[in-house]
Amino acid sequence: MPPSVDQPADDLRPATITVTAGRPAHAPDAPLNPPITMASTYVATGDLEYGRYGNPTWSAFEDVLGTLEGGRALAFASGMAAATTVLDLVSQGGGVVAPRHSYSGTVMVLADLEARGRLHSRLVDIADTEAVIAAMNDDEDCAVLWIESPTNPALELADIPALAAAAHELGIRVVVDNTFATPLRQQPLSLGADIVVHSATKYLAGHSDVQLGALVVDDDEVFAALKSRRDLVGAIPGPFETWLALRGMRTLHVRLDRAQANAKELARRLGEHPAIEEVRYPGFGAIVAAVVAGGAPAADLLAHDVRLWVHATSLGGVESTLERRRRWKAEAATIPEGLVRLSVGIEDVEDLWADLAQALGSPSVVE
Ligand code: PLP
Repeated sequence: MPPSVDQPADDLRPATITVTAGRPAHAPDAPLNPPITMASTYVATGDLEYGRYGNPTWSAFEDVLGTLEGGRALAFASGMAAATTVLDLVSQGGGVVAPRHSYSGTVMVLADLEARGRLHSRLVDIADTEAVIAAMNDDEDCAVLWIESPTNPALELADIPALAAAAHELGIRVVVDNTFATPLRQQPLSLGADIVVHSATKYLAGHSDVQLGALVVDDDEVFAALKSRRDLVGAIPGPFETWLALRGMRTLHVRLDRAQANAKELARRLGEHPAIEEVRYPGFGAIVAAVVAGGAPAADLLAHDVRLWVHATSLGGVESTLERRRRWKAEAATIPEGLVRLSVGIEDVEDLWADLAQALGSPSVVE
């Protein structure tokens, strides 16, 4: 355990938890913020012992995220380090049912594990509850239902309570990648999930300057199994990266409120723009998908012609970014060629719109 950390009361609201959890106890001359503990080893006979097993800066980050999600968190070196640690728990030859429009890295890692004979996976339309339940029933070795909701980048929504109930009847563990929604918009453990996965690289850290991942669970045995994998495999985060993410989380609620308000307005305006064929927005969060009329060439020109928006991958930072997802070979072939994923930031919405409108209206895109 870290040196005494004040635990917030159970009844605090999320915005208060983001600000107050994981702080050192209030005492004369105590710092308000936990220090960055740079340590590869600790004086023997305590709880930590060695740098791969624990770090007080990780604990502060984990306190905030765990309290927000309603469970106990473990920090990892990246979202993929967290995700692959969960898949590590699947026994040899086990099955995974997952969304065909999961983050492409997740689909790639499932394909890689399958190619090496470790496990098998079945990709489904996660919004089609009956089809997902049928896929779980079809595979007697199914061990994990992997849910991403909203999906990246198709923005489909899963019925988490219905899927979790069906999975549990079959003895299948339910994992939810909650990166897009964040615990401020969706708390999967309270909806029946067993494990929550985060790419903290995105909204939690929020400034496009750190890679970090996390898992959250509310079962002590599962927690111990995952912690033991982290201890043994060593996909651990740096203390400085974890501290940056902790600092980022202090403003998560304010950033997300603003980015979401911007996203709602931009989704509405894009939906009325003649150069846009289709807009997908799930009604919450700050990711919008827009299918540009004219397919890949027109979408590439949009990415080229924006000035304020940054043409970049990743998402969840304070700055607005966009990219055509099919520029990545690993992206699902069912994602339209002209789909542009917009990660809406916290700038003034009028400036964001003016830039999109000029880029969409440029002769090259309209043609
Ligand atoms: N999950 C989702 C939904 C993502 O979008 C990403 C990255 O884009 C990841 C997981 C992987 O996270 P990381 O890049 O931190 O490894």
